[in-house]
Amino acid sequence: MKKSASVFVAGHTGLVGSAILRKLHSTGHTNIITRTHSELDLVDQRQVRSFFNEHRPEYVFLAAARVGGILENQRYPAEFLYQNLMIASNVIHQSYVSGVRKLLYLGSSCIYPRLSEQPMREEFLLTGELEPTNEPYAISKIAGIKLCDSYRRQYGCDFVSAMPSNIYGPHDNFDYESSHVLAALIRKVHQAVTLGSPSVRVWGTGTPRREFLHSDDLAEALLLLMEVYSDLGPINIGSGTDLSIKDLAEAIGRVIGFDGEYEFDISKPDGAPRKLLDISRIRELGWHPRISLEDGIKSTYSWFLNHSSEL
Ligand code: GDP
Repeated sequence: MKKSASVFVAGHTGLVGSAILRKLHSTGHTNIITRTHSELDLVDQRQVRSFFNEHRPEYVFLAAARVGGILENQRYPAEFLYQNLMIASNVIHQSYVSGVRKLLYLGSSCIYPRLSEQPMREEFLLTGELEPTNEPYAISKIAGIKLCDSYRRQYGCDFVSAMPSNIYGPHDNFDYESSHVLAALIRKVHQAVTLGSPSVRVWGTGTPRREFLHSDDLAEALLLLMEVYSDLGPINIGSGTDLSIKDLAEAIGRVIGFDGEYEFDISKPDGAPRKLLDISRIRELGWHPRISLEDGIKSTYSWFLNHSSEL
């Protein structure tokens, strides 16, 4: 990717897209194209077609998606399936039609079977039942991988798919209901400290294990993939270690200075028991995570404090 190459970052206001944008800027890229949701609705085929006809980007990072935490996925299964299928179909097809040199598609570790052997290797895709709480989202992401693979096979397009673990960082969604766990617990613990509450409510049993990766580490991996990687199927990106939700809550509590209790609300779903990615392939390409979970929670908490009035 030349520094002057035109690069379209789809989803640049989100957690992952904004990290890609920061990385492109800091590495000297000068021709970055972005559109907000209201300027370009990626679900709308006609809008996507005319955008690609007009701008003809050379590189595309497809980080736009309808996303949310476990409850949001359960509440809006139709939106998660429909919108993500449309975004993937529209952007991947128009990238082929307009001759994009390379496209990087973002998925998620929920594409792997619910009771997969751990850590999960790329070849475990489609070897078992998916986790029901996010099956529609996972199916849309698997369809996106297959679109990339099919356009590569049939038309020789250089389209690749990256599967990150649970991502967190600046520009995350900190809403109580629709967010993912790390951002949600930062907000809940912060509120408990502010109000002097004796306890924080954590959804589920606290026993599921998750692997967290900071969005800046992810962005570094994605730029590397754009440079050096061309292959079929997904490639995993994670931190290589996981912890229980209870341990995560306690880690957040230590950073924020909360010494109360955690109550586990078992009326809320646990989701998959464990989702740890095998990251041997991306490590072989020379990438490794740099930001420890503790440092990442600290910097994300300070971002939250600086932006809490806008959230
Ligand atoms: P998942 O990785 O797709 O299951 O997505 P989430 O990040 O939404 O949830 C991860 C785990 O954290 C699940 O077991 C949730 O039940 C648990 N969890 C605990 N407290 C919360 C919370 O306040 N919000 C969310 N989203 N999850 C929570």
